[in-house]
Amino acid sequence: MVRATIFMAMTLTRRVGVLISGTVQGVGFRPHVYRLALSLELAGFVRNDKQGVAVEVEGEPGAVQAFVTRVASEAPPIARIEHLTVQDLPLRGVAEHGFTIEASSDVGAMRASITPDLATCSACVREIFDPRDRRFRYPFTNCTSCGPRFTIVRGTPYDRANTTMAAFVMCAACQAEYDDPLNRRFHAQPNACPQCGPTIELVDRTRHPVSLEAARDAMAAAARALANGAIVAVKGLGGFHLACRADDETAVRALRDRKHRADKPFALMARDLEQVAALVALDPEERALLSSPEHPIVLARRRSAGRVADAVAPGHRDLGVMLPYTPVHHLLLADVGAPLVMTSGNVSDEPIAFENDDALRRLGGLADLFLLHNRPIATRVDDSVMRLVRVGGRRQPLMLRRSRGYVPVSLPVNPGPPLLATGAELKNTFAVAKDGRAWVSHHIGDLENLETLNSFEAGIEHFRMLFEVTPERVTHDLHPGYFSTRYALERTAFACPPRGVQHHHAHLAACLAEYGESGPAVGAIYDGTGYGTDGTIWGGEILVGAAGRFERAAHLWPVRLPGGAAAIWQPWRMACAWLLEASGTAADPPAIPPALMPYVEPRRWRAVAALARSGEHAPVATSMGRLFDAVAALCGIRHQVNYEGQAAIELELAADPDAREPYPFPLQRRDAVTLLDARPLVAAIARDALAGCPVAAIAGRFHETVATTTVQVVRDVAERHGMKTVVLSGGVFQNVLLLERTSAGLQSLGYRVLVPQDLPVNDGGIAYGQIAVAVSMDR
Ligand SMILES: [Zn+2]
Ligand SMILES: [Zn+2]
Repeated sequence: MVRATIFMAMTLTRRVGVLISGTVQGVGFRPHVYRLALSLELAGFVRNDKQGVAVEVEGEPGAVQAFVTRVASEAPPIARIEHLTVQDLPLRGVAEHGFTIEASSDVGAMRASITPDLATCSACVREIFDPRDRRFRYPFTNCTSCGPRFTIVRGTPYDRANTTMAAFVMCAACQAEYDDPLNRRFHAQPNACPQCGPTIELVDRTRHPVSLEAARDAMAAAARALANGAIVAVKGLGGFHLACRADDETAVRALRDRKHRADKPFALMARDLEQVAALVALDPEERALLSSPEHPIVLARRRSAGRVADAVAPGHRDLGVMLPYTPVHHLLLADVGAPLVMTSGNVSDEPIAFENDDALRRLGGLADLFLLHNRPIATRVDDSVMRLVRVGGRRQPLMLRRSRGYVPVSLPVNPGPPLLATGAELKNTFAVAKDGRAWVSHHIGDLENLETLNSFEAGIEHFRMLFEVTPERVTHDLHPGYFSTRYALERTAFACPPRGVQHHHAHLAACLAEYGESGPAVGAIYDGTGYGTDGTIWGGEILVGAAGRFERAAHLWPVRLPGGAAAIWQPWRMACAWLLEASGTAADPPAIPPALMPYVEPRRWRAVAALARSGEHAPVATSMGRLFDAVAALCGIRHQVNYEGQAAIELELAADPDAREPYPFPLQRRDAVTLLDARPLVAAIARDALAGCPVAAIAGRFHETVATTTVQVVRDVAERHGMKTVVLSGGVFQNVLLLERTSAGLQSLGYRVLVPQDLPVNDGGIAYGQIAVAVSMDR
């Protein structure tokens, strides 16, 4: 190095090596480097390797310095630079001519990123709507800034041969674009055109073309069928959607019936922001989120004037809306001229279909027509779902489902041995980690049917291969009955014994890790179900801890869940258990609240009360989610649910935000633990319901009560432990009213409030938390 420096000073020339890691492959980084080097008249080369992008440049020292600055500051918009190192090198001088792009090198640790799938960029959209362009109306148009990535990757390095595009041989025109460093399709691995790329077809259930028009122009025929009220299964980026006109009541109802989906809202897709804005009220942050390269589904407040069938989201204040993110969607939305329902191509809770044959088989009874294409999907990926919430003075994203567009972006963890985390049971994700990075999987789903279990197991193998992680330890939930736990314990090929991580501790650690912290902090972790260290079900927890340890400082008053899992689907059972608890040790079972009388036979009510009293088939739980269920049932909002969290969601919808007089919800110290005694709260609500108080007022006051009591107990615990940071997480905090009230209350007392934003507050964040905990315990 010293010799090089002296030589450099003599010649007024400098050579540096620049290593750039992060999301820098498949995003147009090398053409950016190439153009920058040419414009600065530098010699050298750029190449992808497993670390990321490696560059050497040589030339006038001022130009070299400008290169080092601008290579980062002018990087392509979708690139994410994590590390950039610069090193002086010996000169090569006349031995080198100009600047070149070299072939990939395969050496080094696997650090380069496989990028997420990206929504079609504006340049590609212009082409597909330009009649003079050779890609006019071509449904598989993409470039280096957009298109499929993660969903088509089969192996590494990220090259066409390792994707599901391998079978398509580029025509001369596409190859020329691919080879030209100044073209925006330079090394765009899925590059294709009508001459050489994938094709699309519209068929019926028996896989026959439906008409001559369909054989000639499948896109136009599909759009016409949709416009006329058909339900069409559309193969997209990560799987199939079921589509129909959003303003066609008959079509939407038919879709609900066929999908066996009674109430859960459907997502919509609209042509552009203007069409979205006719459906929902949008602020600038929501517009930005909708049109970000990730193009998630965004939940926003629906407009009363928006022309949407009632069956899209019965009784809901919000609609889930997204913009078209592939050329297929752009063409359909433009041709139909109206927003479409775009819901997962599945029946009930099965995973979405993503293979043509499977879709025809599984969705045969659901869709009238199938819009199929012959570019295979390597990994099934759902749409991501987000909303914006106010935490203190700041609006931040609340991730409800993290999948397409966000996976497989890595998240930071403390360095440690290579790990696998198998996550929780519902809304499962898994994660692998090594060298200070964790890759959390796409949304796998609820591990309760064979199809989902297969996709869990295949997903783990895929991630291990893609990121070259050979785990030395597996970490899992404490719940012995979870499939993810059994999967972890049955696999013994790890160097270290498996490690169980308490569910709510994982929630706390995940949030801290996301913010690059390891605690200590107070965590208010509220959800439906998580296995406790004492073998009971937890879910209304105030924890004090850090990534490596925690203690349970406070929790909700325990009650029985009469009938176990049945209590989750039948909130009236929780109303019964809570009323029994609130009435103390009275010999008689509580009377059936009037709101439940039409639905619950006295005989069943008495039987459930007997279960709660005896404890038979009635595990003890401190679940905040079940308290919300009980209150929803007492108010007559929901006696039974048909999707997870439905009662709590409808309770929030019912709440009058101006009804703020709290109910009694006292705190009781018992040894070192504080109990949030909800018995007087439940008794007061039952009295109000009996007296005919408006449900909106009861629901509003209930939310206020939970928020204020949470603030109070967190403050007590924080003062006792001298802490200023509070984490709010767990699925119950998907409730915006509760989240915003609680965080505002804590902030007004001077606490720093952290709420997860890169990962869901629900169990989709558990695997990452398991990694964060295990890494800390190993240090
Ligand atoms: Zn593009
Ligand atoms: Zn071509």
